[in-house]
Amino acid sequence: MQDIDELYDKKVKCSVCNYEFITKKVRISRLKLIKRDEDFLSYYKGENPIKYNIFVCPNCGFAATESKYSLITSNKKRIILNEITSKWNKRSYGDKRTIETAIETFKLAIYIGQLLDYKKIELGSLSLNLAWLYRINGNKDEEMRFLRLTKNLYEEGFHNESLVDINMDEMKLGYLIGEINRRLGHKDKALKWFSTVKSNKNINSNSILKSMLMDQWRLIREG
Ligand SMILES: [Zn+2]
Repeated sequence: MQDIDELYDKKVKCSVCNYEFITKKVRISRLKLIKRDEDFLSYYKGENPIKYNIFVCPNCGFAATESKYSLITSNKKRIILNEITSKWNKRSYGDKRTIETAIETFKLAIYIGQLLDYKKIELGSLSLNLAWLYRINGNKDEEMRFLRLTKNLYEEGFHNESLVDINMDEMKLGYLIGEINRRLGHKDKALKWFSTVKSNKNINSNSILKSMLMDQWRLIREG
């Protein structure tokens, strides 16, 4: 019973083709956190909400996170219709998802994000979610492959993009790049990123991040 109640149906209208469909979401009130990795992957007792983050239109194949799903320009619509819909085998992701089907939705969303010129940091966050799904599934090679992609996208975004309008602040992003470098075995680069964040004048205003930073810093130093 609990499994069924964890998910609910959300009705969505596709902003590309106007088709109406149902997608599942996880009830926030049902989430029971078990643990959190140092790069912010959260594990829950039941369903992990990441699996349902991407809405996929069964009719035209448009896939994106909820915040990107509405308000699409006519130019972007045209890109989806030409590049995605023309090759789309109609199928639905509206049922309970396995990790494998969730992985498919993220790959599609990343591909669409590239077509629609998302910011590097936004693509990086999609890629990080994909790496996490592979971690949950125990596929280390693919996890590392997408952590590398995330690192490259985040580093490029950190240096060239504004963080306004996206759910990310400079210290958190710098910490994440450091932690991803650490996971990839790039100790010197990880330390360099951690020390940049450590010297940020606002670091004392975020005691949780500061303590994570110091823990990971020590982990490298003692490793
Ligand atoms: Zn559609």
